[in-house]
Amino acid sequence: MRLLTLLLLCGTACMAQQKSIENITSSCSTVNLKKNLYYLASSKLQGRLMGSRGDTLTAKYIAEWYKQNGVQAPYNKGLSYFQSITAVQKINRAALTINNKRYDYLDGWQMFLTEPTDLKNVPVLYVMHNSIEAFYRDLPKMEVREKAIFFNTTLARAFIAKGLDSMEMVLKRRGALMVAWSGPFFNKIIDRQKARRFLPQYVQPYDGNPPQVQPLPEVNLTPQRLREMLAADNLIVDEDANVLNTGDKPYFDIQTRLTVRAQIQFKETHAPNVIGVIQGSDTSLASVVISAHHDHDGVNGKEVYYGAVDNASGTVAIMEVAAMMTRAVEQGLKPRRTIVFASFTGEERGLLGSAWYVDHPLYSMKKTYGVLNIDMFGRPDTIHLNHNMPDSANYAYILVKDTLNRGLREALYTANDASTKLTLDTYYENPKYMMRRLTGSDQYPFYLKGVPFIRIDCGFCSDYHKPTDTPDKINYALLTKQTQLAFTTLWNMANR
Ligand SMILES: [Zn+2]
Repeated sequence: MRLLTLLLLCGTACMAQQKSIENITSSCSTVNLKKNLYYLASSKLQGRLMGSRGDTLTAKYIAEWYKQNGVQAPYNKGLSYFQSITAVQKINRAALTINNKRYDYLDGWQMFLTEPTDLKNVPVLYVMHNSIEAFYRDLPKMEVREKAIFFNTTLARAFIAKGLDSMEMVLKRRGALMVAWSGPFFNKIIDRQKARRFLPQYVQPYDGNPPQVQPLPEVNLTPQRLREMLAADNLIVDEDANVLNTGDKPYFDIQTRLTVRAQIQFKETHAPNVIGVIQGSDTSLASVVISAHHDHDGVNGKEVYYGAVDNASGTVAIMEVAAMMTRAVEQGLKPRRTIVFASFTGEERGLLGSAWYVDHPLYSMKKTYGVLNIDMFGRPDTIHLNHNMPDSANYAYILVKDTLNRGLREALYTANDASTKLTLDTYYENPKYMMRRLTGSDQYPFYLKGVPFIRIDCGFCSDYHKPTDTPDKINYALLTKQTQLAFTTLWNMANR
């Protein structure tokens, strides 16, 4: 009986609190979201490339918002929101010379740039076998020492399917210096790489340590470069990179020699995460993190990658959530758990800001109850639009990994039932599609440290990672609803 009374009393109090939280949820400001998003995705910020002036201006803008909206600064005795991260940039330069003609990197050729390479005037053994077995049968008779071993396309495909490492180990032991092959597909692969060449490369925190290095340098040519390499031997190469007039010889030396040079330089760089805090009523409890990345892809020549949906949208969402949470505190609704607002840099360069944060956190990962990560809000994705789903502007994708059974899914669903009533799409929770979602944003470093997480997002739109991802294409009603869902979910997480 007594227990029931208590429950009823609590019920009344909880209902009053519930009502107040609903009021704050509905106070989510579309005007602010829009104003902030138009600024972050403006040409002034030049696509917010990590480490650029645009990134710095972005960080300052977020910090100023935190300050104006009652979010505490955790660094430098309460004066700074900036956490400087350290990242190592990789600067590659490479050139290939065929018949005294020098080609810069990606000018009709490519290689894996994992190690410095300096190979001068290397003789080439051209290999025409149609199967791996035939190749190994002849190998004892072949002179491979100090040579580049160039495979025809069929054999190269067979080795790629089987994995290249063991073949390269065998050839390395026999003294070969590199392996190479051609194929029509390299035209496309190289074009795609050229299109991304403006993006700086960084040492990746999750590629394994030390990064994987091939036993031998691997060089790939387009059919055009292959033609140039074989011209002195009067060999004819068709569009598919097949050599047509070799007779029956399964392998032969060619007259042309190859020179391959690759330099790799490493440069330490710094960029800002922007971290703010709202203290909970019980500081002995583990804290909650809400995160979004503010960086994007910068500029390519005159083209700006505005990154409106990716991820100016998520950034303005956590800014608005911070403002709403401060309003809650001002109305006497203090969350039990302390909340960390984390705006990360360097997500696009390989989760660099969040990887740095989990190693240098404000509160230890053991004392982190859960993470709510937001990466892309406010634009219906191609799946919802193309299938003309009735909820195409009233949904959110979710991915929940509650490895410690902390009730994160319940926090999310209860929040949605109480306020926004979006269709929660679990498509990306299907193990078939989950991996890219899991590893593809800032929740991943937390997940690797064992911290449960919720990710909410709107999926991939047709302008994903294109200069055409601009603020005018955002659906601000959807952005508002998704931000409200983030707020109520965070509120629930912080009060569990
Ligand atoms: Zn993103």
